[in-house]
Amino acid sequence: ACAAPAAERVVAELREACVAPAARLNEVAAAMEAEMRAGLREEGGSNVKMIISYVDNLPTGNEEGVFYALDLGGTNFRVLRVHLAGKDKRVAKRESKEVSIPPHLMSGNASELFGFIASALAKYIASEGHSNVFDDKQRELGFTFSFPVRQTSIASGTLIKWTKAFSIDDAVGEDVVAELQTAMEKQGVDMHVAALINDTVGTLAAGRYNDEDVVIGVILGTGSNAAYVEEASAIPKLEGELPKSGNMVINTEWGNFDSSCLPITEYDQALDEESLNPGEQIFEKLISGMYLGEIVRRVLHKIASQSSIFGNVSHTKLKTRFILRTPDISAMHHDDTPDLRIVAEKLADNLKIMDTSLDTRKMVVEICDIVTSRSARLAAAGIVGILRKIGRAVPGDGRRSVVAIDGGLFEHYAEFRKCLESTLVELLGEEASRSLVVKLTKDGSGLGAALIAAAHSQPQ
Ligand code: ADP
Ligand code: MG
Repeated sequence: ACAAPAAERVVAELREACVAPAARLNEVAAAMEAEMRAGLREEGGSNVKMIISYVDNLPTGNEEGVFYALDLGGTNFRVLRVHLAGKDKRVAKRESKEVSIPPHLMSGNASELFGFIASALAKYIASEGHSNVFDDKQRELGFTFSFPVRQTSIASGTLIKWTKAFSIDDAVGEDVVAELQTAMEKQGVDMHVAALINDTVGTLAAGRYNDEDVVIGVILGTGSNAAYVEEASAIPKLEGELPKSGNMVINTEWGNFDSSCLPITEYDQALDEESLNPGEQIFEKLISGMYLGEIVRRVLHKIASQSSIFGNVSHTKLKTRFILRTPDISAMHHDDTPDLRIVAEKLADNLKIMDTSLDTRKMVVEICDIVTSRSARLAAAGIVGILRKIGRAVPGDGRRSVVAIDGGLFEHYAEFRKCLESTLVELLGEEASRSLVVKLTKDGSGLGAALIAAAHSQPQ
């Protein structure tokens, strides 16, 4: 029924290149597991960095007091204040403020970015008014900084590299806590940074605070990453005495995973080459919210160059990078109007593609489905790799295991979430997956930082 065989061919080739059957995903999971082991063995042993977080105790629920958190890692930045009231009352009060980061600060210099953060924090504190809670005590802060950091302690670490839309050269190799502390002093903010963590570690901690069977934290937002609880004795590169708990939270930095078994297309290759970090974060570029819309745009652009179904390319915005965002493809994918009215609107509003036929709009939905299914299936394979590494949700393991997931992609994109969950069952089997629970842990990254700050700033 399609009048454009050239367009059909592009879609067929995409479908073929993105296919990720269970056998393929099992290879991905095995490769992930092997890279995890290599990364634990020695520093630099794998693309998957397996960063030691220095978090060896997760929240118990007994934490008490008022704690602050800063969450920096994607498009927005949040300041949080939580009042923890112990085992029964839990989070008695929670307030937060979200500030969007001006794009020019994402590629400027470190002091501007940290100055902006510190000034937002100063404003937030000023707006609290006077509270006698703080007459004597210094405020304790947990800092969630969601980029690869080589941690040197629970509250210090140097930036390895930027990812996502950030690129600030003079911050690489610097201690991000020292930078924050300096900026806070300039703003007259008197706070103590009690913990430096990653959003995955925060999500794991917040998940654990509410459910003691949480063993993995995953981020599926602008970027993608995962953290999990490892046995300290299974980390050859861990120096010094083993922690008393016997455990250590590992920030995998799985976004940088790469393997010949990944289904990679010409669109992914071009996206990577033109990105801020070519050759890096390959797994993240296949999965996360920053990129899915852009992959779809590249496919549509190719179709436009080989057929006339979108009209004259130069009259559209198909050449503009990142013009199609993941929330747009999510809206098109979920369009349940009989004539695909939402698809028509998105194509018109975002791309200036007018007067499409119903067949063309159906084809656009299929492209969204192909790209998003691949993403969700690969994310599921990554989770299975971690589960197999720690012997959870495998045949014979009867323990309940919970995966805490945060991030806008997982939270808002229902087709993505459904596909991820059904793929987990497909890979683990009905039996083993009955003991696995996947839980949305909203804003876990910020709350987790406050919880870890609490756990590390007072004797328990
Ligand atoms: P961050 O990762 O920046 O900390 P979030 O966890 O809120 O922030 O995730 C934001 C990302 O989630 C966006 O970059 C976008 O890719 C994705 N997202 C947000 N809303 C939707 C939506 N409705 N459908 C699909 N993806 C969405
Ligand atoms: Mg986040």
